[in-house]
Amino acid sequence: MSTQHKFLLDESKLPKAWYNINADMPVPPQPVLHPGTMEPVTPDFLGVLFPMNIIMQEISPERWIEIPEPVRDVYKLWRPTPMFRAVRLEKALDTPAHIYYKYEGVSPVGSHKPNTAVAQAFFNKEAGTKALTTETGAGQWGSALAMACNFFGIDLEIYMVKVSYHQKPYRRIIMQNFGAEVYASPTDRTQYGRAVLAQTPDSPGSLGMAISEAVEVAATSNGAKKYSLGSVLGHVLMHQTVIGLEALEQMDMAGEYPDVVIGCAGGGSNFAGFAYPFVWKNLTDGKRAKIVAVEPASCPTLTKGKYTFDYGDTAAMAPIVKMHTLGHTFIPPGIHAGGLRYHGMAPSVSALVDHGDIEARAVKQLETFDAAVKFSRAEGIIPAPESAHAVCVAMQEALKCKETGEKKVIAFNLSGHGHFDMMAYDAYHNGKLEDYEYPVEMVNEAMTHLPKVSM
Ligand SMILES: *Cc1c(COP(=O)(O)O)cnc(C)c1O
Repeated sequence: MSTQHKFLLDESKLPKAWYNINADMPVPPQPVLHPGTMEPVTPDFLGVLFPMNIIMQEISPERWIEIPEPVRDVYKLWRPTPMFRAVRLEKALDTPAHIYYKYEGVSPVGSHKPNTAVAQAFFNKEAGTKALTTETGAGQWGSALAMACNFFGIDLEIYMVKVSYHQKPYRRIIMQNFGAEVYASPTDRTQYGRAVLAQTPDSPGSLGMAISEAVEVAATSNGAKKYSLGSVLGHVLMHQTVIGLEALEQMDMAGEYPDVVIGCAGGGSNFAGFAYPFVWKNLTDGKRAKIVAVEPASCPTLTKGKYTFDYGDTAAMAPIVKMHTLGHTFIPPGIHAGGLRYHGMAPSVSALVDHGDIEARAVKQLETFDAAVKFSRAEGIIPAPESAHAVCVAMQEALKCKETGEKKVIAFNLSGHGHFDMMAYDAYHNGKLEDYEYPVEMVNEAMTHLPKVSM
């Protein structure tokens, strides 16, 4: 086993610009619509929630957007991240395929999320923002933004899905360590939260509800607070492209180029961050890597959702965008990959799936944990339940190669470690994890609440 299996980049190779796929999209962008009027939004409307420098990134047609030095300085705490060839996993699977993975779990909070949290905190600081609001599911995003806001001296108010607030206290405590205020959503701090509680006093909350609360607080703060989102939006995906840009260099070091590029997709940010630089090569450089986005079968946004206009949040206060959606009122079952339970998808990912540039695949909870445990036994890293979806499809692809004898190169993004998800692994080992059926009636019901848009 003397094969080189670890590809490290020097700090000087940390990317100096993010890749903006707007420049290369094969289909024109769809308008973002106002949730009230259903007319295309103006920068003024978005300006209530986001600072202008971030709005300009969101709509920029430039292929490369410079990464400011203060952001690169913070990135250097953990970037460039390592890329590994999973030689022990290849051996365990007895496959002729070569499997590579990029590991984002080395960040201080254990996932890819600080790549955008740090950038968003910096641009807000530059724009004079004193306080941010955000939502978080199990706390990966909240802990990343709490760290970033702390670095740049911005106050942070976090609406955390209630069931996670109580059942998964460790990340909440990390957020509080970094100085953030954390509230169990639905709360009585917002009009929306009070309305939910009046109807369902014991509501466990959902990501869509928490988004509605965080958006309401920022929108009604008379400019005192801005809002920050950890996925879905174009600028968020763009900030994540440091992952794939580094990976391109690392594949070069390995002297190989991937035939298959894989990432798990909740809102689409780690997937896009890893895959878009390879999509860029497909679109502009004659490369032909197969690009695969993996989602849970219980929240099958890309594989079973509809590509249409829908609200970004449950309360129908956030902008309407064209994306694959299960309906904004859809509340997904409580699977352990909390980060993959969003009803929608990043519009650019949806557009590329619709156009055939990206493939989508859904996998079931039990097979993802089977894969994650096999992976950790071979490679020593315990994947986050979200990342386990990418691991699962990488292993499926490698096993296909075993059947066909093909020596494909498979690369996937390991978006984070699972050290705060050990109760999920415990449930797996005790035979308590279930596969959730695709709740077709719930989705059909949610589809009746789509906004009536005439585009
Ligand atoms: C949040 C999270 C995800 C899902 O979010 P995306 O925006 O789709 O990347 C995936 N993996 C990990 C480890 C996460 O924390």
